[in-house]
Amino acid sequence: MSSKKTILYQGKAKKIIKGPDRHTLIQFFKDDATAFNKKKHKLFKGKGVLNNLISAFIMTYLKSKKVPSHFVKRINDREQLIRKCEIIPIEFVTRNVVAGSIAKKLGLKEGTKLKKPLLEYYYKEDKLDDPMISRDHVVAFGWATASEIKKIDKMSLEINRYLKMLFIKKGIVLIDFKIEFGRLASNPKKIVLADEISPDSCRLWDKKSNQKLDKDVFRRNLGSLMKAYEEVASRLGIMH
Ligand code: UDP
Repeated sequence: MSSKKTILYQGKAKKIIKGPDRHTLIQFFKDDATAFNKKKHKLFKGKGVLNNLISAFIMTYLKSKKVPSHFVKRINDREQLIRKCEIIPIEFVTRNVVAGSIAKKLGLKEGTKLKKPLLEYYYKEDKLDDPMISRDHVVAFGWATASEIKKIDKMSLEINRYLKMLFIKKGIVLIDFKIEFGRLASNPKKIVLADEISPDSCRLWDKKSNQKLDKDVFRRNLGSLMKAYEEVASRLGIMH
């Protein structure tokens, strides 16, 4: 068997490698952390291993709740086998508590609880700094159909409910998160959760102290990123 791997796509924190057959791919988790559209970049030894573990755990948990995703299985420390899909070029953000860009944009205090979960869409285009768009933009520009967006909104809210439940049991508040969706290559009508769910893409605050256990530790120089991610893994019971 050849050990050569064909890299199909290089992302900021992951790369996509050719899979064992035409409907699968391998998702490889790197140690890179980037913020502010790559203006800030650093390597954290072992971050990829942790995010692979955490994301695999969460995708498996969501699968048990009947949330369809591209995730098949974790293959090794850094790799997952995933189902191939056509990624919808939108970052779907769900918020429970005000933080990050929404706090800045609207001049609101971080930590303010929202009256209901807030769904936002950002067009995935680094050159434009991922601009915020409306549901109408998504449909008008043909990035997804109205019925796909309806499905995605419903799935996002379901995922939010399950993740909030999972984390609060571990003393962690889910502030917000970003997810991506795709159309399965084997069945393009089927929308599945894709990419990853990890402390790189969520805001997670300790319930008692409000200590940040996510990528804001890196964005805002708040201490050891690895310690924060290890804390998340250990509370989820996937690292000893
Ligand atoms: N997020 C992400 N990738 C991005 C932008 C945001 O994973 O390119 C996540 C971020 O970690 C947070 C949520 O989406 O959990 C909302 O991010 P926000 O809009 O507040 O932007 P930020 O200020 O974090 O860039």
